[in-house]
Amino acid sequence: MDLNQLKTAIREEFSGLQDELKTLALDLWEHPEMAWKEEYSSQKLCDFLTNHQIQTPKGYCGYPTAFRSEVSCKTGKTFAFACEYDALKPGHACGHNLIAACSVGAMIAAARIMKKMDLPGRLVILGTPAEESGAGKVHLMKHNILDGIDAVMMAHPGKCTIPDRGSLAIRRYDVTFHGLSTHASGSPELGVNALDAVMLLFNAVNCQRQQMPEFCRIHGVVTDGGVAPNIIPETAGCRFFLRSANEEWIEKLDKRFDDMVKGAALCTGTTYTKETFSVDCRSRKPNAALNEAYTELITELGEKISSTPKEGRGSSDFGDFSQAIPGAHPYFAITDPCNGAHSLEFMEAARSERGLNNMIKAAQALTFTACKFLMDEEFQKKVRDDFETK
Ligand SMILES: [Zn+2]
Repeated sequence: MDLNQLKTAIREEFSGLQDELKTLALDLWEHPEMAWKEEYSSQKLCDFLTNHQIQTPKGYCGYPTAFRSEVSCKTGKTFAFACEYDALKPGHACGHNLIAACSVGAMIAAARIMKKMDLPGRLVILGTPAEESGAGKVHLMKHNILDGIDAVMMAHPGKCTIPDRGSLAIRRYDVTFHGLSTHASGSPELGVNALDAVMLLFNAVNCQRQQMPEFCRIHGVVTDGGVAPNIIPETAGCRFFLRSANEEWIEKLDKRFDDMVKGAALCTGTTYTKETFSVDCRSRKPNAALNEAYTELITELGEKISSTPKEGRGSSDFGDFSQAIPGAHPYFAITDPCNGAHSLEFMEAARSERGLNNMIKAAQALTFTACKFLMDEEFQKKVRDDFETK
């Protein structure tokens, strides 16, 4: 089979599948569930796959809302699709309902094409819960969820259609300073002010900004600022996120932050506790060859690749996947420039006609990339080489 025949086969598969996939995405949108609580969504996705001849039991290694299933043909390479399906407080404001239907659709179509065309290799679908706040993929990696997989992809909704341009590694800390309370006016000399330590830490972080490259970020909030102005705060706390697109710099920032906390305590005579909040995520390492195949097909389907310079980036647990094996996390446009993901506007776009139609295009681009990977040894080598040389 050549690539033109593959493209025709993909078109045929999706003309039959697209209505069901859109209904699935809307059903998930109507039932938003927070991280680790995706009972309804994961059951729906497993049932959908099973109804399309891909037996998928719900649950993986003790995580009830995760899943993993596979189909294989002759011996060859293994390609995986990752699904996300957790929501935020107001609902599907990050459009993970579209991600899930997109990857499930790609898995079903690619599996059918693999069987019909007798393609070598194996396809895997990974149900990865809790992207938003739980770093589900990092947890699942401790249970070898990527074992035997040669490449992994998913597509995320966004403001524009673009290849994966990477994301930032993230480390999150809660810091509490401990001092001594006293009457702030009657006997200030007896107190040790924990809030001063928090304020010094913010000032130290703000000084550090001037010495950081553009691809780093530090941002924090005060979580405990004391009780009343006439009481010297005995404890005070803050939460900071440290981010970097570069793995070397996240280490540097981490070390600097640790020194700043120590310095703030030393200056004020306080003690401190510093705890990790949530799980660390690594930066995303986009695979150029996988990106290229995705953009080739989505462009042919009428999507324009945005050439606007990179805007701010967040962090994602797919970063850890992409550092372990070749991976890509490209985007498909569901709305024109708006407040972006996590806004109410974006949530509406995640069930709009344009959102659903472009989700189908992205699913076709993922199917194309997966099938090309299974059948083309030259492409497999390019994917591997790109991963190894970065
Ligand atoms: Zn998201």
